[in-house]
Order: sequence, then C-alpha cells, then structure tokens
Amino acid sequence: MPSGTRRIAVIGGGISGLAAAYFVTRMARQQGRPVRVDLFERENRPGGKFDATRKDGYIVEAGPNGFLDSKPWTLDLVRELGMEDRLLPSDQAAARRFIYSRGRLHELKASPLSFFLGGPLSVSGRLRIIGELWAQPTPRGKDTTLAEFATRRLGREALERLLDPMVSGIFAGDPRRMSLRASFPRIAELEEQYGGLTRAMLSIAAEKRKAKRRGDEVVGSSGPSGPGGVLTSFLDGVSELSDRLALHIGEGLHTGDSVNFLRRGNGGWKIITQEGEVDVDCVILATPSDVSAAILSDAAPESGAILSRIPYSPMAVVGLGYDIPDLGTPPDGFGYLIPSVEGRRILGALWTSSIFPGYRSPPGKFLLRAMVGGARDHDTPFLPDEKLVEMVRGEISATMGLSARPTFSSIVRWRKAIPLYTVGHLERVEEAEGRLPGGIVLAGNAYRGVGINDCIRESEKAARSALESLGQQGA
Ligand SMILES: Cc1cc2nc3c(=O)[nH]c(=O)nc-3n(C[C@H](O)[C@H](O)[C@H](O)COP(=O)(O)OP(=O)(O)OC[C@H]3O[C@@H](n4cnc5c(N)ncnc54)[C@H](O)[C@@H]3O)c2cc1C
Repeated sequence: MPSGTRRIAVIGGGISGLAAAYFVTRMARQQGRPVRVDLFERENRPGGKFDATRKDGYIVEAGPNGFLDSKPWTLDLVRELGMEDRLLPSDQAAARRFIYSRGRLHELKASPLSFFLGGPLSVSGRLRIIGELWAQPTPRGKDTTLAEFATRRLGREALERLLDPMVSGIFAGDPRRMSLRASFPRIAELEEQYGGLTRAMLSIAAEKRKAKRRGDEVVGSSGPSGPGGVLTSFLDGVSELSDRLALHIGEGLHTGDSVNFLRRGNGGWKIITQEGEVDVDCVILATPSDVSAAILSDAAPESGAILSRIPYSPMAVVGLGYDIPDLGTPPDGFGYLIPSVEGRRILGALWTSSIFPGYRSPPGKFLLRAMVGGARDHDTPFLPDEKLVEMVRGEISATMGLSARPTFSSIVRWRKAIPLYTVGHLERVEEAEGRLPGGIVLAGNAYRGVGINDCIRESEKAARSALESLGQQGA
C-alpha cells in the first residue's frame, strides 16, 4: 500500500455496501486521492437480499425482482458499469395489476375514469374519494401514520382496500404504525405543495399537457409497469448487479467475515471482526440497523440505542412452478395484493413468468412467487416447509382460483426482510446520525428508503461523506 494511503471499511455487502464501496473507490480515483477500500460481509457470498434459487431451469428471486426505471440512480450505475446490454425490462403484461377483494381479483386501472368505474372500492368508497378535495391538511412539518392520513383524506375503505395492500406490496408493513413522511415522502410533499392529492394529480396532468404542447420531453409518464415507471431487472436476475459490483471491489472484498464491533484506535477506528482486527480511517456501516446498533455499542452507544429500535418485518418468499397445460389460461399480468381485512394468510403473489416471460422459468412452465408474513404476521413464514407450501397452495387456489398441483417449489425466509419506518422515523435517524462520532457513516435500507434506487442513492451520499470525513482528518 503506497504511503499516505487512507483506509475506508464498508461493513455489510448487500447492494448498499457494495455500491458504497464502488462509489468511494471511483470518487477517490477521480479526486486523485490514494484510498484503500475493504468490504466485510458476514455471508460467504456478496449481495444480501440480492439472491436467487436457481434450480430445474427456474430463477426464483429471494428478494427484489427489479427496480423502477423512473428514478435515475440504479440506471446511472448500470450505465457506469457498462451493463445496459444485460437489462431486462418487464413485459407489457406487467402493467396489469390486481387486488383481491371480496372474493375476486379486481384489475387496477391507471386512468382515473376507469378506476372510478371499477376496482375494489364500493360506490360509497369511490364517492368518498371525491371528498379528498376538502379534507383537512396534515399540519405542516408534522408526521402522521399512513392509516391516519389515508382515512382523513380518502376514507376508511380506500385505506383498507387500496393503501393497505400497496403497503404490503412495498414494505410488508402495517399502515397503522408507519410514517407517512418516511415511507411515502412524495405523497407528503404533494400534499404540502398542492394542498391535496386530487389537486396535485390535476395540476401535474395540466403541467404535462402544457409541456407536451410546447414539445418538451415529458418525464415520469406511465410505462408498462404503471405510473411508477417500468420494473427492470437483468437477464439472469438482480444479482448480476451485485456480482458486478463485487468484481470491481476485487481483493478488498472479504466474505465470510462478520464484524463484531468498533473501537477507537490509531487516530481512526479499529474494526473487530471474526477473523481479527483492522485499523481504518473511516467506516461506512451498511448492515441492517439492529446489527449496526450492536457494532456501535462501544463507539456510539446513543446512536446504537436509537438504531436498535427500528423494527423489521419477517417474510417468506415461496416460489411455485406449474406445467402450463395444467393451468388452463396462464395468469396474465404483474400479480395481485391482498388487503389485510380479507384475513388471508399470504400478502399476495407475483406472476413472475408473465412479468419476465422466457427468463425465469423453463419452456412449458409457469412461475409465481407468493409473499408470506409481514409486520402483522411473524409466525406463518416459519411454518415447516411442507406446511408452508401447502398453505400457499390453498391460498392461491382460494384467491386466484388456481388449484393445479405445482411441479416445483422453493422457499426463502427472511427473519428481518424489510425495515419498518414508524412515525417519527426520519427525526430519529437524524438524531442517530447527529450523535455519531467523526469517521462513521450510515448506509443501507433502514433509513431513507427501501427500494433499490433509494439504497443506491443513499450509498452515493455515504461515499461522499466518508471521503469528506477523511478530508477533515487532514488527508
Ligand atoms: C422479499 C423482498 C422483495 C423485495 N422486492 C423489491 C423490489 O422488487 N424492488 C426494490 O427496489 N426493492 C425490493 N426489496 C427491497 C430491497 O431488496 C432491499 O431494501 C435492499 O436489497 C437492501 O439492501 P441493503 O444492502 O441495504 O441490505 P441487505 O441486503 O440486508 O444487506 C446487508 C448485508 O449486511 C450483512 N451483514 C449482516 N451482519 C453483518 C456483520 N455483523 N458483519 C458483516 N456483514 C453483515 C448481511 O449478510 C447482508 O449481506 C425487496 C426486499 C425483500 C426482502
């Protein structure tokens, strides 16, 4: 190592840690600063939630099945890595999304008129949505639960039959506990800026029409996966991205080496890992927040105590593969979510072979992934394998009428699948960060967004802060 080289350690090799290590290396090179980056990952493989079961010609994602192309962060990184030719946009069919309600699947239509004429809400539930125009605003600067916000603005039925399943789909969460500002910052912003969601929708549509007339490019228009953009993956699954980042980190990547805690040492930080001790100038902590709390117990106990209180939802992802001739008509669309008031035992199912036809199941087979567990069900994901598969089969039959026997199954369980941002989350995160000593930076999905795009955006910020902290130490 050339003299004057500064050392940065990244702890945790999920997408957040891998991206942070990559960004630090790239930024240091651009700034002409000699920096060595080491990444410590507990498991024997990098990627964290980016993992898949690859068996019998199936690729069953254990975690995310893609990212939305409507935000720039993942796509920019993909371009930087020269991986555009590996991208796999979801099929047009993925635009069709469903909600299971009152005994059947309802398609969610994108146009406001079709939405109003159909969907899972009763006539009175739909009429109540019009009342959104006159709803009391959330007091400025105040956080509130998603349930309180949705009931006040859209009515109880919209909360139960629209927002609740959406929250299950993104966070496996519970709207009665979750923070509006942390979980859906854009919605909070729209309410503040336009005075309500209907007003925001109308104003944005008018602005887009004006822009179109002027001949400007309209960003954020609906793609095949709905208004949020196009769900995009990689030909062989999302771990193509984590594997490529790991390659860039090279010999700085230490898998199978768990970090226990940090101590002050040698003007910087001493990392105590399962394998030994390493002295570094700066640490980026990209582990789940409860692990980060334990690692910080000596170096920053007050921050650690705040992080230790961020709850997580458990989940099981159950893949079921079918012979297409057994299906009659194969499912066509993205899949469906189930409101918790329905009292079912799965959160919903994604029709993977329809989202990425030809890339996740072998010829003649159809794959779906059912999601089990979440913030309100900590037990079902941990049923024994056989019982779990049988339970999911029963639920699939009851909700989408598919009673054929699957010829393939796979199970992945996450004890801590997704962090839950409860009311006041952002303020607590700020406080935890404010109490960190110099040279320790947080990254990861526990703080400002769980989506892949959010993780990559936050990792870039963490990398910048880490390099700045070296500057402050006189590099
Ligand atoms: C089932 C599921 C479906 C999802 N679907 C989507 C989706 O479709 N689109 C989307 O955008 N997002 C999705 N998400 C969310 C997204 O996948 C995650 O938020 C993101 O992958 C988290 O990345 P991370 O690096 O922050 O955390 P993790 O992936 O959890 O990485 C943390 C890493 O830290 C390591 N670690 C733990 N303890 C230690 C230690 N002591 N020392 C060293 N290393 C340690 C772990 O082994 C792990 O590798 C999904 C998540 C789940 C669970």
